[in-house]
Amino acid sequence: MNNLELFHEFIQRYKILYGNVIYKFDEDIDNAVQYNDTNLNASIGKYETSIRNCQECKLSNTRLNFVFGMGDPNADLLLVGEAPSKEDDIKGTPFAGKIGNLLDNILSAIGRNRFKGVYITNILKCRPPKNRDPLISEVNKCEPYLKNQLKFIKPKLIIALGRIAGKILLQQDIPLEDMRKKTFNYLDTPVRVTYHPASLLINKNLKQLAWDDFQWIRDYVDGNKN
Ligand code: SF4
Repeated sequence: MNNLELFHEFIQRYKILYGNVIYKFDEDIDNAVQYNDTNLNASIGKYETSIRNCQECKLSNTRLNFVFGMGDPNADLLLVGEAPSKEDDIKGTPFAGKIGNLLDNILSAIGRNRFKGVYITNILKCRPPKNRDPLISEVNKCEPYLKNQLKFIKPKLIIALGRIAGKILLQQDIPLEDMRKKTFNYLDTPVRVTYHPASLLINKNLKQLAWDDFQWIRDYVDGNKN
């Protein structure tokens, strides 16, 4: 068989296996990501469906719900927490309850909401028992899903909410104060770190500092800052 015949046979077999959709397979990601720019919403939904029964780590035994994330698939701002809370686990949505209400208020103050210009997710998609910090082994299994979400959404800026999310994304174990007001990088996307809304509910003195961060975030995504 010559090269052209080999290529023709490959295409025929590919179509039998996968139909007319083009998939891209990454070495470090177990799951194939379907790229379909004409219907991003449907594509990210299909991706969620393909992983929602994940049993790659033991959190699958204790979760009530897999919490993929929610928001605008064309968002220029991607908010990333460390893991679902108890309420998130019950409802199946990220940043539910009081913590989510506060986050929604902050987003509203910068002219956005979780359905417009923003996508919200966590590094882990299942809740660790008693809200303990994610284990490295869990992050290793789950982070590829976040990386794939990033490929779908292609945000202009990622915000890590809280020190633990910052530590995981930046791979630096430093105090949150040393992460704030600096721009880092995660897979070629700029990252900023600010307070988790849960810590703002506990310590109200942090609210002004968080508001300073979100004003910078607003200006950056609106194109008023480099
Ligand atoms: S935390 Fe992530 S890797 Fe672990 S079971 Fe849930 S989805 Fe799978």
